[in-house]
Amino acid sequence: MELKHLLGSALIGDIIYDAPMSKYTSFRTGGRADALVMPKSEKELSRAILLARENGVPYCVIGNGSNLLVRDGGVRGIVIRLAEGFSGIQVEGNTVTARAGELLSSATNAALHNGLTGLEFAGGIPGSVGGGMAMNAGAYGGELANVCEGARVMDVKTGSTEYIPVSGLEMGYRTSRALREGNIITEAVFSLAPGDRSAIKALMDDLNRRRREKQPLAFPSAGSTFKRPEGHFAGALIEQANLKGVSVGGAQVSQKHAGFIINAGGASSKDILELMRLVQTRVYDMSGVTLEPEVRIIGED
Ligand SMILES: Cc1cc2nc3c(=O)[nH]c(=O)nc-3n(C[C@H](O)[C@H](O)[C@H](O)COP(=O)(O)OP(=O)(O)OC[C@H]3O[C@@H](n4cnc5c(N)ncnc54)[C@H](O)[C@@H]3O)c2cc1C
Repeated sequence: MELKHLLGSALIGDIIYDAPMSKYTSFRTGGRADALVMPKSEKELSRAILLARENGVPYCVIGNGSNLLVRDGGVRGIVIRLAEGFSGIQVEGNTVTARAGELLSSATNAALHNGLTGLEFAGGIPGSVGGGMAMNAGAYGGELANVCEGARVMDVKTGSTEYIPVSGLEMGYRTSRALREGNIITEAVFSLAPGDRSAIKALMDDLNRRRREKQPLAFPSAGSTFKRPEGHFAGALIEQANLKGVSVGGAQVSQKHAGFIINAGGASSKDILELMRLVQTRVYDMSGVTLEPEVRIIGED
């Protein structure tokens, strides 16, 4: 059945057909998705998932697209984006509850306004709460697993959602059980501690300043391209392999931080993928260390 016909009358939220994924990813590259679906509730989300699964339509879930590379041929089927429509933050006592589509910066700001400490490290990570939880986003010694009490997770096989305490989320270095199993985080609960508002603000400002100094924030990227290999730093290995500034088409190993591949202007996803392979080969030849992408790659060539 034609996708438009299948989705047309389904109550699954806003739909954009033939959606340019470059608009929804921080790399600003990639082809089009057959349909970009933006549910506003768990009900709409489960309808979208079950509709896709029952009709054999491929689907995937994204948040803010800040750790995502979409290949140039785009994505067949449905891309489900949990973003603006999936919003809402509640603060009760020392607990911040945020829906998956909220930005991590919004959750961090809510904590700041309520004098709660613990989430400062996440203020400059440009992901959504759902994507951040799936990736167990972290920075400056913190990671979401350390401040998370639990999350609501949708089982994509049944479309039902339940609250799972943090131990059951199995969050590891840039991974989680939901990411591995393809289940969907719809809400996260962060357990914080009372703190001094001006100290919280000062720490957030300091971390943001350090980001601006060290990271190529003026260019589109997906943050660190590769995971930190055990016992090493990806950026240092890439720099030692003399790859700083090396380009393929419009993709470049950042001069400012070798751990970032940037879209220096007009890059295609193919350029970025070729540059990633070149970096992996040269670093391996030099050091014997295999760099594993942190960036998630979807779509077809
Ligand atoms: C300039 C810059 C700096 C960055 N700095 C950091 C940093 O310091 N630390 C860090 O950890 N990361 C960093 N990142 C990477 C990125 O911001 C994080 O990985 C973030 O958590 C991704 O969230 P997202 O909503 O953008 O997810 P997306 O990129 O949309 O998706 C990432 C993955 O999560 C899955 N996913 C998304 N939403 C959900 C959901 N609700 N349920 C289940 N799975 C889901 C997707 O399927 C995909 O596999 C940086 C990126 C940029 C561009």
